[in-house]
Amino acid sequence: MAHIYDRVALIGLGLIASSMFWAMKRKGLAGEVTGFARSAETRHIAREIGLCDVVYDDIREAVRGADLVVLCVPVGAMGPVMAQIADVLAPGATVTDVGSVKKDVIEKIIPHLPEGVHFIAGHPLAGTEHSGPRAGFAELFDNRWCLLVPVAGSDPAAIARLRSFWEGIGSNVEEMDADHHDLVVAVTSHAPHLIAYTMVGVADDLSRVTDGEVIKYSAGGFRDFTRIAASDPTMWRDVFLTNKEATLEILGRFTEELFALQRAIRQGDGDHLFDYFTRTRAIRRGIIEAGQDTDAADFGRGVGRKP
Ligand code: NAP
Repeated sequence: MAHIYDRVALIGLGLIASSMFWAMKRKGLAGEVTGFARSAETRHIAREIGLCDVVYDDIREAVRGADLVVLCVPVGAMGPVMAQIADVLAPGATVTDVGSVKKDVIEKIIPHLPEGVHFIAGHPLAGTEHSGPRAGFAELFDNRWCLLVPVAGSDPAAIARLRSFWEGIGSNVEEMDADHHDLVVAVTSHAPHLIAYTMVGVADDLSRVTDGEVIKYSAGGFRDFTRIAASDPTMWRDVFLTNKEATLEILGRFTEELFALQRAIRQGDGDHLFDYFTRTRAIRRGIIEAGQDTDAADFGRGVGRKP
């Protein structure tokens, strides 16, 4: 495949940036990929494993001359990072980000955006509970959605180019406005993470009473919560600090539903429980039919599978 960008700069070299790098290399989407990470340790690891063609110790050197700059840092760091690089961005370059929240990131980046530089916010809906430069793999974005959030005045040609780039990386691409994005991900990702954090916290409190049995006998449901609750604390702290409104709206609805289910249990209302669980089961089927997960038992972990 011909290059889509001549020089791509990845700022922040964790799970998402490293996966983008390997996916770009797989398809030859960029002439050269430069990188920068905050800590000397991450830069050292990146050099050791060949993550990026050149890793710079200076963020401004990493973005100089880039025609695409991808901000892959936690949401709360987007504004400060943009402030550091704004005056070395080349006219005509595109800046994008991969942050999990869009309205707040856009508000923090726009004030620093120089004349002649395009900004198109983005969010690949793909990830794992692992983080850091070693966590990435080329297939992370295959057949996953990447949401692009153009801002007022975004150049259509720059949007089309970024769309081709994400398609080259393996994603399906959709455009969305920032408010809608933040509400959708509050339902599909942010509130579920908070619920998993809470459930694991409750079990942890209980395990002090039951002397480790929660860990010893952990079965499917709880184990899946622990996987989600192992996600990066900095990233998720920032998500909840910046997607406050939408997350609180969804948690309000969640609490109401939880109370209704609690009442059904107390009153022995089996019909309510059965109907509810039938409805939710159909959602799981829909996700599998849309190709967004496997229907293998136990998420394909292989436990209990016949040899
Ligand atoms: P990650 O693996 O933890 O990597 C984060 C990178 O950002 C690291 O290189 C880190 O540098 C750097 N960084 C952290 N704080 C910084 C700061 N204050 N200033 C400058 N650099 C800083 O994170 P990730 O999972 O790739 O996530 C990156 C972004 O993608 C986040 O905005 C997240 O919301 C979004 N996202 C994540 C997922 C997911 O499932 N993980 C999915 C979609 C989108 P050091 O290594 O030097 O500390």
